[in-house]
Amino acid sequence: MPPDTTYSVQDQLDELRQAYIAGLSARVDQLTSVWNTLSPEAWDTSALETMLQLIHKLAGSGATFGFTSLSNTAHTIERYLLDIQERNDPLTSEEYTQISALMEVVRMVAKDPTQHASTLAWKPYLTLNQHLSGAHSRLVYLVEDDLLLARELALELEQSGYTVRTFAHPRELEQVVHDAPPAVIVMDIMFAEDRLAGITGIAQIRQFREVTIPVLFISARNDLPARLHAVRVGGVAYFTKPIDVPRLIEQLDQLTVSPRPEPYRVLIVDDDQVLAEYYALILQQRDMVAKIITDPLHVMVGLVDFQPDLILMDLYMPDWNGLELAAVIRQQQTFVGIPIVFLSTETNLDKQLAAIKLGGDDFLTKPIQPERLIASVVARVQRSRTLQSYMMRDGLTGLLNHTTMKELLSTEVARAQRQATPLTLAILDIDNFKQVNDTLGHTAGDWVLKRLARLLQQRLRATDIIGRYGGDEFAVILPNTDAMVARQIFEEICQDFAHIQQPDDSTTIPITCSCGIAAFSDDHDSNSLNEAADSALYGAKRAGRNRVVPAGAQEQSMPT
Ligand code: GH3
Ligand code: MG
Repeated sequence: MPPDTTYSVQDQLDELRQAYIAGLSARVDQLTSVWNTLSPEAWDTSALETMLQLIHKLAGSGATFGFTSLSNTAHTIERYLLDIQERNDPLTSEEYTQISALMEVVRMVAKDPTQHASTLAWKPYLTLNQHLSGAHSRLVYLVEDDLLLARELALELEQSGYTVRTFAHPRELEQVVHDAPPAVIVMDIMFAEDRLAGITGIAQIRQFREVTIPVLFISARNDLPARLHAVRVGGVAYFTKPIDVPRLIEQLDQLTVSPRPEPYRVLIVDDDQVLAEYYALILQQRDMVAKIITDPLHVMVGLVDFQPDLILMDLYMPDWNGLELAAVIRQQQTFVGIPIVFLSTETNLDKQLAAIKLGGDDFLTKPIQPERLIASVVARVQRSRTLQSYMMRDGLTGLLNHTTMKELLSTEVARAQRQATPLTLAILDIDNFKQVNDTLGHTAGDWVLKRLARLLQQRLRATDIIGRYGGDEFAVILPNTDAMVARQIFEEICQDFAHIQQPDDSTTIPITCSCGIAAFSDDHDSNSLNEAADSALYGAKRAGRNRVVPAGAQEQSMPT
């Protein structure tokens, strides 16, 4: 049985349609009275402009609520009016006759709307499966014929908490996918007998499985055809070899991590309240949060207060048009990256291109199919969130970067102060890392950095904030944790790090790390807390490295 919320959303959508129908005759009356002021003899450019706005709205909303023929008729009138406006000449009597006849059709529909509704066209309910359901496990199928690479990659993924099953060929996957679907498939593209076997394999699986399992492709091929094929069979990401493993893991985390991501926030800017509510309901059905603004002048306040992930914007509104509004929004530094999706009946290609050039990321033509609306919004929010995460993260380890850590430390310190809860900061630095680089090479050095990053991610809680300060220095903010507990945790982490598998089996140089920890107290601010942890770290280095030292307790340090 579908959940209750489905009923209530459907009820609301029906109500919205009823409201539209109830208001239709008033809309058409208004339109008629403007039309009555126009004729070949009586020429009035401002009345023409009003008429255009009204008819444009009618064309846009009609089909959304199932009145396709009304929309089409309004659309034809709009085209006549646009021609007239463009040549800036009065109506010809032929045009007058044509438009009058079309207006008659509009009035007829408005008189008895249900009679003219196409019930087939009114299908606001979503039919797509929630393809996320069942995807919460951490099971990954890795299909790769380079067995060494497969082993190495599987190891890295397992270190990050994934269960990995490897397959040497896509054909081995088919039956298994049906019996025990994984959360994600990581698929190589080129196999011995076929340079696109990975793609074909996925296409094959897709034929028989309705619920989509996300696929990440990994390949030595970096050519456009391979990438295109990958997108066509629904690949959510494409990694070229050598694989950037932290990015791959980040992608996997995004696809599988069980705490649900923050719901997408969409700001809807449309002067047509009923249509705006319709879009909001469609988005809410997919657990998004929507806010409606019908007056474009309020858009800036909406942006600041609501902090949307995306703006859904009508292209034509009285006084302002969406393109101008987008340009104004983009002029503000804070909102320069926010995706904007324009909604319009506009089918004119030049205008669409202008919209995209101004930074609008997509263009949807009314009436908008719910699936299309959702697909467009989801794709753009995902992309912009990923981009944002790249700006906040360190490229090598995928951990938060120095700037972000500093900002978060201030926030957490303020929170600890306000709520009178404990907070500990740990700073770690790899011992003699220069020597690791010198002896084993920079690549092995990178490997060690990533290893420590993974270890921290594995051992700490989701609420702990982990970052790379730079070079071989890492920091961890532990909310609700006092120094004693933190010390215990980091002693274990440092011990494990010292015993971790070496990048190169033949080497025996010790790889260890040192750690300084400092607990927040009332005489600290975020800077002094940082300094305290930093000087504890140097205490640990001076005392012989490979140890954890709490601030102000350098003498009590003990080797791990
Ligand atoms: P100490 O025990 O006192 O910390 O000695 P150390 O040799 O580790 O000294 P330090 O922490 O100052 O050395 C940091 C080194 O890290 C210097 C730099 O060459 C190296 N490094 C910085 N960033 C990277 C990186 O992204 N990759 C690799 N492989 N090495 C890096
Ligand atoms: Mg170091």
